[in-house]
Amino acid sequence: MNFLYWLFSFIFGLAIGSFLNCLIWRLHIKKSILGRSVCPDCGHQIAWYDNIPLLSFIFLKGRCRYCHQKISWQYPMVELATGLLFVFSFLILDSSLHILDSIFYLSLFRYWIISAVLIFTFVYDFKYLEIEDIVLLPSAGIIFVLDLLLGYSAIKILLAVFIAVLFFLLQYWITKGKGVGLGDYRIGIFMGMALGNWSQLAVAIFISYIVGTLVSLILLIGKKKGMKSMIPLGPFLAIGTFTALFYGRQIINWYLQSI
Ligand SMILES: [Zn+2]
Repeated sequence: MNFLYWLFSFIFGLAIGSFLNCLIWRLHIKKSILGRSVCPDCGHQIAWYDNIPLLSFIFLKGRCRYCHQKISWQYPMVELATGLLFVFSFLILDSSLHILDSIFYLSLFRYWIISAVLIFTFVYDFKYLEIEDIVLLPSAGIIFVLDLLLGYSAIKILLAVFIAVLFFLLQYWITKGKGVGLGDYRIGIFMGMALGNWSQLAVAIFISYIVGTLVSLILLIGKKKGMKSMIPLGPFLAIGTFTALFYGRQIINWYLQSI
């Protein structure tokens, strides 16, 4: 029985991933998200059977049917990542809540929105070194409403948001904008809403900075990036937030037991 739920979560995640790819592209070129998909290279309209998440990329062998230009790996990767995270969200909740509970569906919906927004932020900041408020801020508002419906403490959430914003703004002022961009405090607002308390937020920031430092070091040693080149923080914040969202409590307990 549960298999059907997994399958639905996965297929729904693939579809949302496909929508995210479209959103990333259209926000960047400032085009309406309505209207049919076209190939970014030749502009040919894409038929529905060439627009099936994951499968079309495989059948077309990663090339446009009309101009034969390569389709970016971003497309199947984002679709697959969204599909897998949607199933993963289901599994995490399935192990702690009863599936017929209304709290289960609210929590699942909340996890799915957070996953989609974090994947979007990861890719958008990585590709364009930009943050899109039009995605981040309304979704932070929706998450806040879901938080309250699920009975989380508004004071704890707002305190987490306040700490996140303060942390990024202080860093922006101290490094005079070289360490973090002004976009990062808006990701901070979203992180505060999604994690809901300062301790999970601290775990997320800590993991983001460890992973970010490691990756930067590897890039520096491999001479892929110079000391002065811009490495976006968004993808690392997304990784940190995912980890804290799904494993924050275990990490905090493990830490408290080991000191
Ligand atoms: Zn084409």
